[in-house]
Amino acid sequence: MLDDKLTSIKGVGDEINKKLSILGISNIADLINYFPKRYEDYSIISSISDLRPGVVSLRGKIVQAKGRYVRRGLHITEAIMSDNSGSVRIVWFNQPYRANALKPNQEYYVSGNYELSNSRFSIMNPSCELVSEFPANTARILPVYKLTKGITSNQIRKLIKQVIGLIRSLEETLPKELIDNEKLISYSQAIEYIHFPNKTSDIGLAEKRLGFEEVFELSLASLLNKKEIDLLNSFKIDFKQDLAKKFVDNLPFDLTSAQRKVVWQIYQDLNQEKPMNRMVEGDVGSGKTVVATMASLMAISEGFQVAFMAPTEILARQHAQTIADLLDPMDMKDKLGLLVGSMTTKEKDEVKKRLNKFEISFIVGTHALIEENVSMDKLGLVIVDEQQRFGVAQRKKLMSKAQKMPHFLSLTATPIPRTLALTVFGELDVSILDEKPKARLPIKTKIVSPNSRKQLYEEIVAELNNGRQMFVICPLITDSAALDVNSVEKIYKQMKEIDFKKYNVGFLHGKMKGVEKNQIMEDFLNRKLDILVSTTVIEVGVDVPNASVMLIEAADRFGLAQLHQLRGRVGRGTDQGYCYLMLSDSSKPSPRLRALVSSNDGFKLAELDLKLRGPGAIYGTLQHGIIDFRIARLDDVTLIKSARNAAKNFIDENIDLDKYKELSLKVNKLRIVTNLN
Ligand code: ADP
Ligand code: MG
Repeated sequence: MLDDKLTSIKGVGDEINKKLSILGISNIADLINYFPKRYEDYSIISSISDLRPGVVSLRGKIVQAKGRYVRRGLHITEAIMSDNSGSVRIVWFNQPYRANALKPNQEYYVSGNYELSNSRFSIMNPSCELVSEFPANTARILPVYKLTKGITSNQIRKLIKQVIGLIRSLEETLPKELIDNEKLISYSQAIEYIHFPNKTSDIGLAEKRLGFEEVFELSLASLLNKKEIDLLNSFKIDFKQDLAKKFVDNLPFDLTSAQRKVVWQIYQDLNQEKPMNRMVEGDVGSGKTVVATMASLMAISEGFQVAFMAPTEILARQHAQTIADLLDPMDMKDKLGLLVGSMTTKEKDEVKKRLNKFEISFIVGTHALIEENVSMDKLGLVIVDEQQRFGVAQRKKLMSKAQKMPHFLSLTATPIPRTLALTVFGELDVSILDEKPKARLPIKTKIVSPNSRKQLYEEIVAELNNGRQMFVICPLITDSAALDVNSVEKIYKQMKEIDFKKYNVGFLHGKMKGVEKNQIMEDFLNRKLDILVSTTVIEVGVDVPNASVMLIEAADRFGLAQLHQLRGRVGRGTDQGYCYLMLSDSSKPSPRLRALVSSNDGFKLAELDLKLRGPGAIYGTLQHGIIDFRIARLDDVTLIKSARNAAKNFIDENIDLDKYKELSLKVNKLRIVTNLN
């Protein structure tokens, strides 16, 4: 049975059981769902007389097997294998049981590497099995699994082979019509092929089937959630044209047409009885804060409360400031509040009291906002900045403060291709800010080798002398013996005492106290500091328009998306911004860094990252965590589209999910982890 313990399989004792559990395998279902990470092709049987060095499989009899210790800790078994074309030497290291286990006059399959050892060509450490219809470890395409110490792929294959009968009797999990329409192989066939393909094309068939199922389940879960959210009641927030016009007229700039379009989408959403559930995706510097403020404006004017959550305190403080400035002409400043961890208990209590009395209708804060004792009875709109940093549970908690389901808006700079966004965040409507404010110059990005540091500093001095400021980012806080890269402490000291003696240098990192961090950030904003040496704590969202230089130490240590985010901290006004990517040594820059030099477009870079690193790249930046495609490739647009469409049809046709036991189990599980209610 699927939920039987592994110890019910022959050969699994406590020892192996424990090790398998490290891999997350604790019952038979886990075992058959433990998919290989790659395959090695041992399917072609060679004649011994035709052997070429490399990966080979043979079929023949094995004679003269003898084992001996050559020294302590090193045992060698040698044997001769013969087929009707010739003979070859086989060597096993440290497998003393081998000689006695081999049966004379029986035919074996042997798969291993044919290579030079002690000046003789031999088959080294091969797998070896009696010839049969269904070998597990030889003479076929062999799956390779992710392992832990003390477990080999051979062992895993053997175990799966023992439950092959069960695999072959697995029931279908998807609706039959779907299997036919999409030309998929059956579930049981797919599970067998993923572990034991007979030929290469079987792997593709299995992956298509299992990948389709993953995307189909996730799409179904998010579409069902969407359907349910659509049925919920929220607050209808009327659109007041005069108000919007007054706000826009008082802006120091014109909105981009992308901003106008997105704001309009949001206003239409707010004007419904059902809750808005929208994500605004916009590259760094595309102006998401104004968009969020315009959404809030409408909600506040109708008497609702708005909660705006940011991932860090620095960012929350900055948003509060920006929003206060933006709302200044609207006479709404006194309705604004801030709630962050580093405030004193007294200050916090005061804010909470004012929230309770509706004196504050627009609250900006960090996770402190979701504390139990913050009440917001009139909460009508929740905005989450850089939403991938918040867990679903936290969002739910915040929403639970409202009387009805509040409208939900999330802002993210993670450029996720649209098909992907639709699947991973399926229940969200997606708006894309695909345009940057006009007057903005592309940031000049340059890769710098450490030998040219002095020259670079001369260029930077010119900028500083113009009254501009510089961020310096280091991968570490303190020097580390393990990593030879510049730390915040080291660079800070060097700059302060030597290279930039004449300037005010400060430092910032995540280990500092909240109040200290705020002070430093404020000093930088108020130009009391010319240079801020920091870790990536400033990565998300920080807006210091006067900063024009971003110097990234050991740039090769950062991912492409992160570098792009960091670069986005400068060149936010109309002046030229500069980004210098300092290499940690004088080796050649990676394609990643060169890509960054060639483009300022976050979406383009995300696509490039997908190509360079595979779909895991974007996936990593999502930090979604719970949803885990094991087979489906996130860049397989065709697969994602067809599975998504199939899920849509399934819902449109009102098919009863409960008819499919496995499917409904999985979908309901996914619904819980992705649902925002
Ligand atoms: P992000 O999308 O990265 O959160 P912000 O909202 O912080 O971007 O905006 C970046 C900067 O651009 C801010 O200084 C903001 O005032 C400015 N800005 C926003 N919209 C426009 C616009 N339409 N024209 C010019 N500047 C703008
Ligand atoms: Mg932002």
